[in-house]
Amino acid sequence: MKKLLSMLMSAVICASIITGCDINPVFQPDNKETRKLIAFDTVIDITLYDVEDEDVFNVLEYWIDRYENRFSTTIETSEVSLLNNNNGTFQQVSAETFNLINRAVNANEITDGAFDIAVYPIVKAWGFTTGEYKIPENEELRRLLMFTGSRKIQFNPDNLSVRLLTGMQIDLGGIAKGYIASKLYEKAKEKGVKSGLISLGGNVQAIGSKPDGNPWYVGIQHPDYENDYIGVLSITDEAAITSGGYQRFFERDGKRYHHIIDPSTGAPSESDILSATVITKDGTMGDALSTAFYVMGSEKAKEFLANNPQFKAVILTKDYKVLVSEELKDKFELGERFFLSDLYYI
Ligand code: AMP
Ligand code: MG
Repeated sequence: MKKLLSMLMSAVICASIITGCDINPVFQPDNKETRKLIAFDTVIDITLYDVEDEDVFNVLEYWIDRYENRFSTTIETSEVSLLNNNNGTFQQVSAETFNLINRAVNANEITDGAFDIAVYPIVKAWGFTTGEYKIPENEELRRLLMFTGSRKIQFNPDNLSVRLLTGMQIDLGGIAKGYIASKLYEKAKEKGVKSGLISLGGNVQAIGSKPDGNPWYVGIQHPDYENDYIGVLSITDEAAITSGGYQRFFERDGKRYHHIIDPSTGAPSESDILSATVITKDGTMGDALSTAFYVMGSEKAKEFLANNPQFKAVILTKDYKVLVSEELKDKFELGERFFLSDLYYI
């Protein structure tokens, strides 16, 4: 464990040397090149090894920019914004936006409504889009809840158009980062990259393994201690995606209000989970699921995982139990703030 943690720390320290929005990659003696940029309100760290085609960074940056201009709710001309302001009529979108909204609706179905991109009017009412936080009146939440339920979204595959019912608005914030990370993974692979790591906020996508053949070691942040880990995961060609209320919140009268909304109440979810990480090859659904698990709570998440073995998870509950998918037994090392008696295989 000590060894893993120190390797992880060296990766973190290397990454933090680079500040701001770099124009040129930073060359490291061991054939490592890194880029750090900001998009979607998030720091994006890209680390690639043994790059043969230098154009790869331009390609990745081009796609990050393009995805932001399609999926962002804060860019007025994005496809999602056009859709949100289209007053209940069909709006034509790109094939990618069409497919991502489709997958988000599928996530709504398989999570029994816990994942719902149509919570956007509620996310706005709490002030999470502007940072001007407020606690909405119950009456307002009751009214806004009528517009949730992404299964009501209509699709016309013939001309790739989407229709939100009047009053509905969507927010891809709970699924887009996983999608983008998995797309960047594909684009990097197309450019011949065999080893690297892409990190977008709580989403980490591994490209292959480390150049020495070992897996990538990814720390899952402890919600209470910025520099500590719930544990360290070993991943190869997989995504590890974490959701938790500690990632964005405000406080009023000593109470914490975080950014993940329970679509059944319109309030920040109050499940028994502090942090949910999903490990999977399907980064898009993994992103939706980590958000959904956080809303569902550990019992329902366990049930979901039992029925869907292509997804694995590490869940920290409010009573500091660390629930880990049995299949990760050899791929997860518990952090130093925990005892073995805190660890439960699920
Ligand atoms: P994540 O960081 O992936 O857990 O996603 C959180 C973001 O997704 C929030 O900042 C909101 O924009 C949006 N969101 C909040 N609650 C939900 C929900 N229940 N389902 C889908 N997206 C949500
Ligand atoms: Mg998510």
